[in-house]
Amino acid sequence: MAGYILEPSRTFGEYLILPNLTTRDCIPANVSLKAPLVKFKRGETGYAALDLPFVSASMQSVSGERMAVALSKLGGLAFIFCSQTIADQVKMIVNVKKQGARVGAAVNTHDYRERIPALVDAGADVLCIDSSDGFSQWQHDVIAFVRSSYGESVKIGAGNVVCAEGFKYLADAGADFIKVGIGGGSICITREQKGIGRGQASALRDCVEARNKYFDETGVYMPLCSDGGIEFDNHMIIALAMGADFAMMGRNFARCEESNSKKVTVDGKVYKEYWGEGSARARNWQRYGEKGKSDLVFVEGVDSLVPYEGPVAEYLQKITAKIKSTMCNCGSLDLETFTRTARLTLISPASQTEGSAHGVIVR
Ligand code: IMP
Repeated sequence: MAGYILEPSRTFGEYLILPNLTTRDCIPANVSLKAPLVKFKRGETGYAALDLPFVSASMQSVSGERMAVALSKLGGLAFIFCSQTIADQVKMIVNVKKQGARVGAAVNTHDYRERIPALVDAGADVLCIDSSDGFSQWQHDVIAFVRSSYGESVKIGAGNVVCAEGFKYLADAGADFIKVGIGGGSICITREQKGIGRGQASALRDCVEARNKYFDETGVYMPLCSDGGIEFDNHMIIALAMGADFAMMGRNFARCEESNSKKVTVDGKVYKEYWGEGSARARNWQRYGEKGKSDLVFVEGVDSLVPYEGPVAEYLQKITAKIKSTMCNCGSLDLETFTRTARLTLISPASQTEGSAHGVIVR
């Protein structure tokens, strides 16, 4: 008989955070948003970290050279997409590295024997396997290739997973961080097309529990990246409160000036193009195709427009102000304390209505 999880699959929008005691030192100027990027042993220092807990999605319409340079300056990181030739991806990495910037590079489970050495030579700071379902022996093979070629000197994230079993598999395989999320992306139709996935909050909760258990048992802290499904700013804050170390975003960065796509004006309003890696436009068969077939058999993503936001620096300034403000409400000056002490509550549909302007005519 099939196994069932009878608790509904939850999303970020179904939770709120309860404030904790705000002590007098809890002011935004004292808050650090530093987050570990790769695994480390208990007590170890000097591992790679982010100054802002955000990375941009490895997507054609998001992470090109401009986004990589801008995000690196702000303390985040872009993962340059791998749904392009090795030579083109290498060119992007080299150009970003020329501007004294840190950059991530996505790799796939097909041409990694050629792509990874080229990206490492080009100076990529960290790699990540780009896949919609990372609970696979192919990911194990990619990580094993990195370890046998470079030992621990090359860092590689793996994913995506949505359950404790998937987390444990990739952690044991030797991943340096693990990405969580299937089917929650704004441009994603995977759940509709294939019936696989899990509400992002439930997926994250399970993986955080598995990560904490792994830390207790092995003394190795494995950072988790929550990938996809962050629409509103409060979703990012909930993700961090739940225990994500950092979040990967496509849509929200696609809206920024520096994203790797064109501006389009429709009825006087400015938008940016944003298409999924599993859309017919991206034709990323390495991520969404069938093993052994070099094309898509069906699509798992859409081609869309998203409202133009402005420069990524301004966007992140607004977001960090909100996150720091919430952390002060919760009496936390760093992300580790925030997640360790956060108290989350599920909300009913009625309290959801109560949570935004209601009973008034907004002017
Ligand atoms: P967003 O931030 O909600 O827009 O989600 C971005 C994430 O969606 C990416 O980091 C990928 O994990 C995922 N993704 C990208 N393209 C597709 C697609 O075409 N189908 C399904 N998921 C996708």
